[in-house]
Amino acid sequence: MSEYYETIIVGGGPAGSSCAWKLKKQGREVLVLDKESFPRLKLCAGWITSKVMEQLEFTPEDYPHSMLKMKTQIYVPPFSFPVFASWATPWRKDYSIRRIEFDHWLLQRSQAPMKTHQVKKITKQGEHYIIDDQYECKYLVGAGGTGCPVRRTFFPNQRDPKKLMLTLEQEFEYPQRDNKTHIFFADHGLKGYSWYVPKGNGFLNIGLGGLSSYFVGSKTNIRSHFQWFLRDLVKRELLDDKISQELKPSGHGYYLFSKQGEVKQNNCFLIGDSAGLASVDLGEGICPSIESGLLAADAILGNCQYTKKAISRFSLNRFWSWIIKPWQIPILEVL
Ligand SMILES: Cc1cc2nc3c(=O)[nH]c(=O)nc-3n(C[C@H](O)[C@H](O)[C@H](O)COP(=O)(O)OP(=O)(O)OC[C@H]3O[C@@H](n4cnc5c(N)ncnc54)[C@H](O)[C@@H]3O)c2cc1C
Repeated sequence: MSEYYETIIVGGGPAGSSCAWKLKKQGREVLVLDKESFPRLKLCAGWITSKVMEQLEFTPEDYPHSMLKMKTQIYVPPFSFPVFASWATPWRKDYSIRRIEFDHWLLQRSQAPMKTHQVKKITKQGEHYIIDDQYECKYLVGAGGTGCPVRRTFFPNQRDPKKLMLTLEQEFEYPQRDNKTHIFFADHGLKGYSWYVPKGNGFLNIGLGGLSSYFVGSKTNIRSHFQWFLRDLVKRELLDDKISQELKPSGHGYYLFSKQGEVKQNNCFLIGDSAGLASVDLGEGICPSIESGLLAADAILGNCQYTKKAISRFSLNRFWSWIIKPWQIPILEVL
């Protein structure tokens, strides 16, 4: 006998927990399955915008963990000094959080029951979905990130390989040298950017991401870029040389938004990274994950259709759309 729930969400990251939060708020029955027990590590720089908080109806004061308001400096070659700083856009509010804390809090806040279970096999029988012969549901939501088993089973050709972002990063405890965030675009020719993101509680996240097509076509690889980046940070006195030599970064891939590919089939939905929705200008994935999770919940509640068109493709144009719409640039692709 399998356990029945009206909706089962595979994956308890920001996409899955947002969808669960909205459904639970409307009194609907939902179960979240995640292969990890929370709190769990998630590779991510942990930059969130105020839109994330607006969508999930909380303020920085409601958040029980550390949230640092970001003071960002942006570097673009050939200049070695920042060409843009966030004080020039005072209406923008960006924050850094630690994903290990943020994702756990969002999941708890959703009040959805969660079971630790690695989903392997999903079948459709009539109107229902059966998961590993143990769980059964009417609505199935794939929120399992890049390797989501729901996507693999029902949307095998959903991805555009040209939109794959490769990353390498590490988050570690580091007495703050500088509380500013530093973003280096096209560093050493990278089709992407490197980041130095301090967190509020003495942690630092450093890493870089670039389109995989760049690494395939160039003579360098992502680890060489990481080493160059570390050397630059040491030179700028943002990082201690000894610590830079001890770092062991990890990698992960995720997909930028592409018009190609469906995100809904019958009562099965793909949200967040499983659908490949990160913004094409900055590779921001948390906000589109939340946006898609809430939209999928609305579709389950019968309030709207769930399509990709309703999800923002750009991070910057949210603030500038009325000025720069004609020049919206998928920065990561044109670097
Ligand atoms: C290095 C790096 C830096 C980034 N920095 C930022 C940033 O600063 N700001 C930003 O907005 N975005 C950033 N992103 C993108 C962002 O992290 C993702 O877009 C976001 O986490 C997607 O959320 P999600 O809920 O879709 O997936 P995830 O957060 O990946 O959650 C998926 C969940 O599914 C679970 N799961 C997977 N497989 C199974 C299975 N078989 N069975 C059950 N559970 C399963 C996993 O355990 C996981 O908990 C970054 C990404 C990387 C890799």
